[in-house]
Amino acid sequence: MRLSGYGSTIFAEMSALATHTNSINLGQGFPDESGPNSVIEVAAQAMRGGLNQYPPGHGNPVLIEAIRAHQARHYGQELGTDQVVVTTGATEAIAASILALVDPDDEVITIDPAYDSYPAMIAFAGGVRRSITLRAPDFTVDLEALEQLITPATKVLLCNSPHNPTGRVFSRAELAGIAELAIRHDLIVVSDEVYEHLTFDDHTHIPLATLPGMTERTITISSAGKSFSLTGWKIGWATGPASLVDAVEGAKNWLSYSSGAPFQPAIAHALNNEESFHQRLRYSLQHKRDLLSTGLRELGLEVFEAQGTYFVNTDVRSLEFANGADFCRWIAEHARVVAIPSQGFFAEVEAGSPFVRWAFCKREELLGEALARLATALRSR
Ligand SMILES: *Cc1c(COP(=O)(O)O)cnc(C)c1O
Repeated sequence: MRLSGYGSTIFAEMSALATHTNSINLGQGFPDESGPNSVIEVAAQAMRGGLNQYPPGHGNPVLIEAIRAHQARHYGQELGTDQVVVTTGATEAIAASILALVDPDDEVITIDPAYDSYPAMIAFAGGVRRSITLRAPDFTVDLEALEQLITPATKVLLCNSPHNPTGRVFSRAELAGIAELAIRHDLIVVSDEVYEHLTFDDHTHIPLATLPGMTERTITISSAGKSFSLTGWKIGWATGPASLVDAVEGAKNWLSYSSGAPFQPAIAHALNNEESFHQRLRYSLQHKRDLLSTGLRELGLEVFEAQGTYFVNTDVRSLEFANGADFCRWIAEHARVVAIPSQGFFAEVEAGSPFVRWAFCKREELLGEALARLATALRSR
């Protein structure tokens, strides 16, 4: 069967372990504080006002307008209404893009480690996954390795920056290298940019579509869930040239058709009126990153710098654990803290086996408590 082996996810397994052991869950990446109140209020009003039936498949025009204004304001992009489609989270935008563009036996290049819906969706489409691996300690893109993967069967390059799970924000040079290869080999790029607003220090996000020659070949994917700490609302969107967006919308029509009627005007309100939320979230997450990274380093773990996203990665060999999976089982049992063994994100399992991914998008007290539990458990090991 096409989806054999994709039955469960590492998150489900680790979240079940967290519940079973009554642990603090730093596994799954969702914030434990909701986005702006004003946005929630608009959704509540929309529900009470009767906006409870199917919205247009393409998206509520108010939200389409707000997305166009957001792209113009942040990235200088002038998009037509036919260059935007609203989706059920970024997850559906990814699924629809792959299903629309990848025929059986087409090759899709992913950047390993990768968000776990990519391999599942490529399998759905009957495509073949090829990956370059980001390697510790820098997790930079090896452009030579990337070029070597490209064959006449390569159809899509699936990019993700800021990158989950490594926390890398790809530099302009890396993105320019990816763009150059995509143009030279005439590839379509699906660029998952759900962490576009979650970058730290002096790292800034550069949308691939804004690089010369990329606008016409790139589908860019965003998530209101990530940008406004409303992950349960599942509102996302794809932008790009009208022909590609039309193809994505064609697939999306048969997945969900439409979604989130009362949430769409609320996200429009967020984009139009809660601009300052991005900056607040960025500072708050950066502070939490520092708290968790410093704490993990003090426990003796090797910690890799998170330049963006919700996640920081560690190498557990410095604490003499054989691999991340053993470490995660051990801390769940002895410290009642759950994290994710990064190997679950790697096609090349060996390359990921020493690493563990920790989500820092949690309240500071919770991060502090997790660190205290880990310190106690590791001391008595
Ligand atoms: C969270 C996440 C998504 C999914 O976003 P939703 O809007 O919740 O569907 C997609 N890609 C990456 C890399 C993510 O981390």
